[in-house]
Amino acid sequence: MAVKPYDPENIFAKILRGDIPCTKVYEDDHVLAFNDIAPQAPTHILVIPKGAYTSYDDFALNASDAEIIAYTRAIGKISEAAGVVEDGYRLIANTRDHGRQDVPHLHVHIIGGTKLGLMLP
Ligand code: AMP
Repeated sequence: MAVKPYDPENIFAKILRGDIPCTKVYEDDHVLAFNDIAPQAPTHILVIPKGAYTSYDDFALNASDAEIIAYTRAIGKISEAAGVVEDGYRLIANTRDHGRQDVPHLHVHIIGGTKLGLMLP
């Protein structure tokens, strides 16, 4: 099955354009992070690149080195600022259909603030 092209009408593209609001926790030239609208734990932040990348593999294979460094560093900074580093947390990048990715703009979930359950397939 062919990989779908980027859909500029996805909800995170709308957030990036300012068409719909978000609770912003971090922003730089390459990255925006905001609280998940349906948090699964006390800390549940979504970190997205500003570039139009559908998923983790699209980003990892096609983004510039500067974008990749900025994104990786931002996830570290945001996790630290959220206060989850000492006790631990989980990073999740649901990817495409089998990975149950709902929104087709790359996002990494930072989930923590409590002892999380085991992940099951
Ligand atoms: P995923 O299944 O990995 O694609 O996760 C998409 C996430 O986006 C879910 O955790 C949703 O709760 C979250 N979400 C959807 N719409 C919004 C929104 N408008 N603002 C913040 N988070 C959202």
